[in-house]
Amino acid sequence: MSSDPRPPVTRFKGPTRLEYLVTAGNNTVGFLRGIMQKRLIGLRCPSCSKVYLPPRGSCPICAVAMTEPVEVSQRGTVTTFSVVRFPFPGQVLTPPYACAHILLDGADVPLLHVVGGDVDAVRMGMRVQAVWVEDLQPTLASVAWFAPCDEPDTPYDVFAEYV
Ligand SMILES: [Zn+2]
Repeated sequence: MSSDPRPPVTRFKGPTRLEYLVTAGNNTVGFLRGIMQKRLIGLRCPSCSKVYLPPRGSCPICAVAMTEPVEVSQRGTVTTFSVVRFPFPGQVLTPPYACAHILLDGADVPLLHVVGGDVDAVRMGMRVQAVWVEDLQPTLASVAWFAPCDEPDTPYDVFAEYV
């Protein structure tokens, strides 16, 4: 027990900086190597056959290791989205922009990314395709955004379970 009559410090404001290095595991290395070849490589669960992209070490449903690489399409369907219209601290993109869950053909989990073009035209079911940056880096940011493609919208009942 302290004899200090002052109240205890429970919070303070101060500058904080964290630097860290992430080492990619085997599954992530395959995904990142695919990115460097403009390919999207996920992993298939050997039990339920679901394809995850980005890949995961184990299936969250079956709890088994995922080891079978699967290349998925660069085209997919917007399952849901949100348009960001206001700036906020640390923001990378300039508003307005549309963040969307995109279910790539051949994948079973939507990918969170940006849909380019007219944000007011973005809609559930919209078909989009990956647009790559010129200078590829081993990050998902090498896909600059997803652009609308000239395909009919996917009917809602086809992707409803992914919303
Ligand atoms: Zn599974």
